[in-house]
Order: sequence, then structure tokens, then C-alpha cells
Amino acid sequence: MSADKADESDDDLVDYEEVPEAEKEAEAEKEKEKGGAKGSYTTLHSSSFRDFLLKAEVMRAIGDAGFEHPSEVQHNAIPAAMVGTDLICQAKSGMGKTAVFVISTLQQIQPSSDVDTLVMCHTRELAFQICAEFERFARYLPKVNVAVVYGGVPVMQQVSMLRQERPNVVVGTPGRVLDLVQRGELRLDNVKRFILDECDNMLDQLDMRKQVQETFKRTPHDKQVMLFSATIPSSVKPICRKLCKNPQEIYIDDKLLTLHGLQQHYVKLREDEKNRKLNDLMDALDFNQVVIFVKSRQRAYQLDKLLRACAFPSMVIHAGMRQEERLARFKKFKDYKCRILVSTNLFGRGVDIERVNIVINYDMAQNSDEYLHRVGRAGRFGTKGLSISFVSNSDDARVLEDVQDRFEVKITTLPDEVETSSYMAS
Ligand code: AMP
Repeated sequence: MSADKADESDDDLVDYEEVPEAEKEAEAEKEKEKGGAKGSYTTLHSSSFRDFLLKAEVMRAIGDAGFEHPSEVQHNAIPAAMVGTDLICQAKSGMGKTAVFVISTLQQIQPSSDVDTLVMCHTRELAFQICAEFERFARYLPKVNVAVVYGGVPVMQQVSMLRQERPNVVVGTPGRVLDLVQRGELRLDNVKRFILDECDNMLDQLDMRKQVQETFKRTPHDKQVMLFSATIPSSVKPICRKLCKNPQEIYIDDKLLTLHGLQQHYVKLREDEKNRKLNDLMDALDFNQVVIFVKSRQRAYQLDKLLRACAFPSMVIHAGMRQEERLARFKKFKDYKCRILVSTNLFGRGVDIERVNIVINYDMAQNSDEYLHRVGRAGRFGTKGLSISFVSNSDDARVLEDVQDRFEVKITTLPDEVETSSYMAS
């Protein structure tokens, strides 16, 4: 939907007014209390998936996936989610949030020819990944049909896919979802679950928020709403609450949002020293896969070119690429056919690539949330990893300080030598 069109429909939107200061303070107090109650965060819980009393078909797929114990967020959220409770869930990156909504949806779903569950997320790659998780856990539920829709590919292709396949679970990005809804091709009259992943991102950006709201209004009043993200700023929480009915709120205390197993370092250097340093690091470090973040598309292209010229076979990905190209590259990286990825923030969130063990912020993240999302690409699900951030000006240094204040993590200068076994599984 164009911005103009979005503005026209402003009047009928759910009312998301500014939160008054007093309410904000009460909010902060409430959060503090909650944070205190949830003081501990361990990687895996000692309980078993069996304790959830899931369908045999779902249990079997969980077994196939090799999941032995639920993670903390799964332990806390699945019991409520699987009985239809609304959920606002903040849990750090890589700790199994996706499985919370995938498993609890599959547990409840009664396949019919209608769309039962709609999941929206902000990037096409994440949509694709979520769809793959649904397919993985639905493999013994042959009547469950999952489809993914996103922009950048001809809409008619997706229209005919929807007509033919009549999916029960639709995963998509907000613009394309709304387009299909407005064309009458995606009918949401019988939706029973409305799920947003990386919800803060969608609700924070005005355009996307309007698309989400517009879509939300087309779903029945009675449904389960589940909202997830690694970070939910307090400005977004009231918006989340308005979408839910008596939600169970699960927050992992921000202070504990560090990533186990991830070593975090920085290097102070001048802008013109970055290339040389990166080259040295790539020579010296052992890695399975590495993601290098830069701040613009142009810089991504330049750096990719430079790396290849230096005999490092890299690949670049950013939001401006044609959709087919983006997905092809994403798949190539996920399938381990390329080991060095130069990326803009597009790749910064949610994307789960098992083998990434090093993240380099060639250009520092712009704020602490972005930093956390980026470095969270390494050390997924408690595996080992290493992040190195280049700090070349006072803004970069400020972000580094913010991260350390906020997450109680110590980011130290990069030592001359980093022991390989400390960031790479043997
Ligand atoms: P997510 O945070 O949803 O992106 O998940 C991160 C990674 O952890 C994915 O590769 C999942 O397949 C994996 N994962 C999620 N839950 C578990 C679990 N209980 N045991 C083992 N791996 C898991």
C-alpha cells in the first residue's frame, strides 16, 4: 500500500495514540517488577517436550528435529500458547522463539480449506525461514498446508498459488499480505491465530504498522494473538497490548539479553584502516561462516568486490536486490555454498544460519538493539561464536557503551590472538 493510501484510511484505524508520560512511568515500574521475577535465564530447561502433552505427530517431528529439551522461552510460553492464550513474548535471538508459535499453532490447528493462521514478519527471508519451520514440524500432519507470500515477485503468481493450494497457514510480509487481502484472494474471515514475529520492527515503522493494522482489522474478533521479538521497546508495548486480549507477557530481563557462548570484542581504528584490518582478521581467524555488516548498499558492494579481489569468496545481500536473487543468495548461504556474506541490516534480524560463528561489524550498528540483533547471528542457540566491532568515531563508541550499559556485557578490545576453540565448536 502506498503511503498516501495508508493515510486515507487513517480514520478507521485502531487508535494508537501517544502514551501519556504517567502511563509510561507506570509501564516502566511494571516492567521492573516483571524483570525481577524472571531473574534467571539458562539455555535449556530440564523439562521435556513430553510434559506439554502434544499431538503424537508434532512430538515425532520435534524428535526428528533433534530437540531434546525445551528452551526457557519454550518452557514458559508453549503451555499458554497451545491453549489459545494471547502472548507478548520477548526472548533473545536464537533461543527458539519460532518453535513456540509453530508448535503451539500445529497443536491447535484443525485443517480446513480456510486460512487458520496468519504469520507476518518484516523481511522476505524471515518469512521464508518461518515457512520452512512450519513445514518441518508439520511433516506428519499431511493436511496442514503452509504457504509463504512476499513482495518483489509477481502478485499473480501468488494469487494462483493461493487459489490452487488453499493453505491453512500463511506466512508473509505486511505489504504483500495486505495486497492479497484487498484483492479478495487471501480471505481472513476464519483466522484463528494472528502472529507477528519481530513485531517491534513492524509496529515501529509507520508504513508497516498501518499495513499490519489494516490486515488485523480484516480478521475475526475472536482469535489468538501472539507477538514476538528479541527487543520490544516500551514505546511499542502499549501498541502490542492493544492488539491482544489479556495477554500473557513473557519478558526476559533486558539485562540478561546477553548471548551465552558469544565472545564480543571491538577494535578501535580509523576508517581508512578498516580494509587492512578486515583482511588480517579473515586470514587469522577460523570460521565456518562469517557475516560482515556494513551501513549501506554501496559499501556492501565495494567491500564484497574488495574481498573477492583479495581471494576471499564473498557474496553480498541487501534489500534493494530483486527478490529471486535475494532468496537465491540467502539459500546459497544457508546451504553452506558460500561462507562469507557482506550484508546491510537486512540480514540483521531473526535469520537463523546454524554455521555462522563470526559476525563482524565493519560499520558499527547504529544503536544497541541493532547491535544485539546483528551479533545474535553468531552463537545461535547457545553455540559458540565471536563478534568483532570496528569502532572508528564517537558515535560508534557511544553505541558500544550503550550496549554494555544495557546488557551488562563486557565488550573488550580484540586480543592479539583469539583461541580458536573459544569461538568454534571442535
Ligand atoms: P530461533 O530463535 O527460533 O530462530 O531458533 C534458533 C535455532 O534454535 C533454530 O535453528 C532452531 O531450530 C533451534 N532450536 C529451537 N528450539 C530448540 C530446542 N528446544 N532444542 C534444540 N534446538 C532448538
